[in-house]
Amino acid sequence: MDPLVPQETVVQGIAASQGIAYGQIFVYIQSDVEVPSYQVDADKRKSEISRFDQALLVTRQQIAKIQAEVEKNLGAEEALIFDAHLLVLEDQALIGETIREFEATGRNIETCFNKISSRYIQAFAEIDDEYLRERAGDIRDVAQRVLQNLLGQAENSLNRLADKRIVAANDISPSDSASIDRSAALAIVTDTGSKTSHAVIVARSMKVPAVVGVRDFTSRVKNGDWALVDGYEGLVILNPSEATLFRYGKIQERKKTFETRLLGANDQPAVTLDGVAVALMANIEKVDEVALVRDYRAEGVGLYRTEFLYLNSQRVPTEQEQFVAYKAVAEGVAPHPVVIRTLDLGGDKPMTGNPGLFPKESNPFMGFRAIRFCLEHQDIFKDQLRAILLASAHGKVRIMYPMISGQEELARANTVLGECMAELKTRGQAFDENIEVGAMIEIPSAAVTVDLLARDCAFFSIGTNDLIQYLLAIDRGNERIAHLYEPTHPAVLRTLKHVVDEAHKRNVPVSVCGEMAGDPVLAPLLLGLGVDALSMSPTWIPTVKYIVRAMTMADARALAAAALALSSPKEIYARCEEFYRTRVTVE
Ligand code: PEP
Ligand code: MG
Repeated sequence: MDPLVPQETVVQGIAASQGIAYGQIFVYIQSDVEVPSYQVDADKRKSEISRFDQALLVTRQQIAKIQAEVEKNLGAEEALIFDAHLLVLEDQALIGETIREFEATGRNIETCFNKISSRYIQAFAEIDDEYLRERAGDIRDVAQRVLQNLLGQAENSLNRLADKRIVAANDISPSDSASIDRSAALAIVTDTGSKTSHAVIVARSMKVPAVVGVRDFTSRVKNGDWALVDGYEGLVILNPSEATLFRYGKIQERKKTFETRLLGANDQPAVTLDGVAVALMANIEKVDEVALVRDYRAEGVGLYRTEFLYLNSQRVPTEQEQFVAYKAVAEGVAPHPVVIRTLDLGGDKPMTGNPGLFPKESNPFMGFRAIRFCLEHQDIFKDQLRAILLASAHGKVRIMYPMISGQEELARANTVLGECMAELKTRGQAFDENIEVGAMIEIPSAAVTVDLLARDCAFFSIGTNDLIQYLLAIDRGNERIAHLYEPTHPAVLRTLKHVVDEAHKRNVPVSVCGEMAGDPVLAPLLLGLGVDALSMSPTWIPTVKYIVRAMTMADARALAAAALALSSPKEIYARCEEFYRTRVTVE
């Protein structure tokens, strides 16, 4: 063995987004900048202050450059945010206090700046005024940048990767994933996370291979290391040998051939061999994904996760800004419908740019999120509802509330919606007065009381990602227990059956928009349980359509019946796999 040739090492994670990528690693350090603390000699104090001035200057130049780019790409209004950032750098109180702290303590300037800026961030985050609270996010962003410059660290931005790279990160927040440079990210590998974390959902929609839950990955690798990412099997191979690369080249060719076959059949209707048509819809996070909805022949959007409009913003988008986005989607998918889900912020989707609105919680998945947040911040909720209603004049728009836990909550949301309708009427603005309103079924209490919810819902969409986590008490983002997150657990199957049966008794259609819907192995089970439509990342539609066209609904029903009689999640999964394998051959 040649000691100079780095050894091939295989590490196992969770396969989160399909595909194979080979390239160099970029380690993305997302945590706050670590600030060393030390005493500065008396004779170096002057140069310490000029170091600070220099860092402020460089930061100002960096922000001005980003501002110009944003203005060019997104428009002047979006670029205004950076004015607030530039103002932070002009803030004489912040800068003056930092220098006074330095003069009093003699600690290095990073330590002083970190201390004073943290105090400012804290103070702003607690202010009872939304506008001022939002400034906390501005100060934090700028402070991190100043600290990076003081410490000579490179900019760590995911939206400006210099070259095509495999992004390795401890975790990728939804806002990171939303801003990731699609053309430059070869693959994503994270230390934490699971198949249903939101960053992964975004990776899938971008067709970027991803392996998550590779414990300690970022501490094992460094920038520039070579790796091969196998998003099918959840493997990362560091320093792959020629033989491995050759083998993967062959695998990739085979997968490509299969994919071509799938895409070739994608223009055909999603009808089973015994003639049952199945609606295959798309989940989207951003307006520009409408192109994918059309490319992949989705029959509309079954879930539009609107919170992604808010995630990267430091302020809540206005009614008008939201209207523009929703209208673009409604028009883009017409004549098909779009189900616009109201804000589902919180949980693993905090509004990072606006920490004041989402105070830290010890159990965010069960905390102040989604409809709970909206019902307390009715000004924000109403802006969104009015924007959706206005968009309903431009296409087939439906409204869906996330995280509904029971009938009273649903009624409260509908009351607010009624107020918004009345307001638009007073303003004389048009909207669809018969707009369909539905609820996500993703909390066990909603699943159990679906008969009560059916009175006020035109449709249901089952969010299996959350429903499974709450039903089985398995945090969907925790890689340590990811193996226990079992979509084929009998409790899940029984709950799905209960929801479908009770809804159908009341003529309310049911779709599934969790990740289960896009899994070709599990889709037949869902259809066999009676689900009317499946909504998934658009890129998955060809695979699901292929199995739909290769099976009979009668067989799917038999599969569901057999699965309901079994007690082991693994055995149920094996049955589903067999069902798939006997109908679809990959080779
Ligand atoms: C779900 O919970 O299944 C779902 C579709 O919503 P999200 O993944 O956005 O929580
Ligand atoms: Mg959910």
